[in-house]
Amino acid sequence: MTLKVHNTMTRRKEEFVPREEGKVYMYVCGPTVYNYIHVGNGRAYLVFDVIRRYLRYKGYEVFCVQNFTDVDDKIINKAKEEGKSPEEIARFYERAFLEDMAALRVIPPSVTPRATETIPEIIEMIRTLVEKGHAYVVDGDVYFRVTSFPEYGKLSGRSLEEMRAGERVEVDERKEHPMDFALWKASKPGEPSWDSPWGPGRPGWHIECSAMSLKYLGMGFDIHGGGQDLIFPHHENEIAQSEAYTGQKPFVRYWIHNGFVNIREEKMSKSLGNIVLVREVLQRYPADVMRLLVLQTHYRSPIDFGEEALEEASRAYERLENCLFALGEYLERHQGAVSPMRTQREVSLSDSFFEFERRFEEAMDDDFNTARALAVIFELVKEMNTYLQEQEAFPTPAGPILVEQGRDLILRLCRVLGLFDTPSGGETCEVDEEVKGAEAGPRIEALVDLLVEVRSRARARKDYEMADFIRERLKDLGIRLDDLREGTRWKFVGSGPGKGTSN
Ligand SMILES: [Zn+2]
Repeated sequence: MTLKVHNTMTRRKEEFVPREEGKVYMYVCGPTVYNYIHVGNGRAYLVFDVIRRYLRYKGYEVFCVQNFTDVDDKIINKAKEEGKSPEEIARFYERAFLEDMAALRVIPPSVTPRATETIPEIIEMIRTLVEKGHAYVVDGDVYFRVTSFPEYGKLSGRSLEEMRAGERVEVDERKEHPMDFALWKASKPGEPSWDSPWGPGRPGWHIECSAMSLKYLGMGFDIHGGGQDLIFPHHENEIAQSEAYTGQKPFVRYWIHNGFVNIREEKMSKSLGNIVLVREVLQRYPADVMRLLVLQTHYRSPIDFGEEALEEASRAYERLENCLFALGEYLERHQGAVSPMRTQREVSLSDSFFEFERRFEEAMDDDFNTARALAVIFELVKEMNTYLQEQEAFPTPAGPILVEQGRDLILRLCRVLGLFDTPSGGETCEVDEEVKGAEAGPRIEALVDLLVEVRSRARARKDYEMADFIRERLKDLGIRLDDLREGTRWKFVGSGPGKGTSN
């Protein structure tokens, strides 16, 4: 069966044909790390997690890049508010994001580059854009010249004239056209900055994603994903920058955008002040409830979030869990007592398993229709509940075989959607070596921070034996601690990338 994907660029479902046979290269816009993520953000990461899982199920090898925007006005403002450095804010919320993703059991991306670690590539891109006449410099700022890219607006389907009329753009005398956008911003005193041919400054948001996706995926990669709110201007600008820079097209083969999460008919957003954090939901419900809530709606449709939706997802989760529990419990009671002799009813039940799987795939092949795929799973649950009742009343010799097949199928289909995918599950959430390597950086840093904190607490309790033990063992691992007045600093001895302060 062929997979069909709705491409925002063409506004229709297209057959999915990747750039390279058997491989999918995708980029998902990552978070700007200045706050905990809310349910609206969380939806996007769950949607693209399921898309990745399904592509793997179809046999593709998936290479996924997801960035951290760790330099931005929002981070700088938050740092000022809290009297911290922008770097401290960025690292703190980066870690919080990784915690939320782990709690939601989102498979870690293959690579998670930080904008601040991609500065040379960003500067090189801007330099070329200026050279080619696609960008211009004003007082240390660099702007993209939208009129130099005739196809500007092709993703959002709007012409420059329409944008000009539709948007209330503040008149900026320094810009040639109101829609020109910043590639490089001259930094004010005290702000993070890097040297550049245009003076000290920092990158604009849009250019980061172009630089990071081109660096790891190259032109014409397969899938670029994000929320619908990123279509304009963020993704429109990414296309303009990347295609103008390389002189090639397309930048991306398939653009996939997920719908909003609404609360009382308003989009959940930080600026409207109606947000619910992912971690707030996870304090009250298992991660699978949140996942079901997201997957019960097609990814392009809006979700109405609230108590009612959570309760409904919670009931669905219970139905699944109860069925799996009952099937497992039956199997424990009927170990060994099996025979392959089947009744007519059992032959048709066994045949229906193939049909359930086929319909599940058909739904997912239709632009990742998780709502329909879940409906197939729940139909199978109902079928198995009925069969179990029959078995309790009139046991048959093949009962345990059918129960086991049914249970395995439910679990297998659930896990394609990331449900019941516990870390100890073994066969699932399989993280390949490449992924592990890419993830190790931030995770190891977080682990060392944790150990340093445990040691600080031991010292506060005057448990110096424990404190010294941790120091010595970390030293054996090549991590050196320095106790300073403002707290304990640590670093990897010799290699040098590690750094951190823990009070
Ligand atoms: Zn982006």
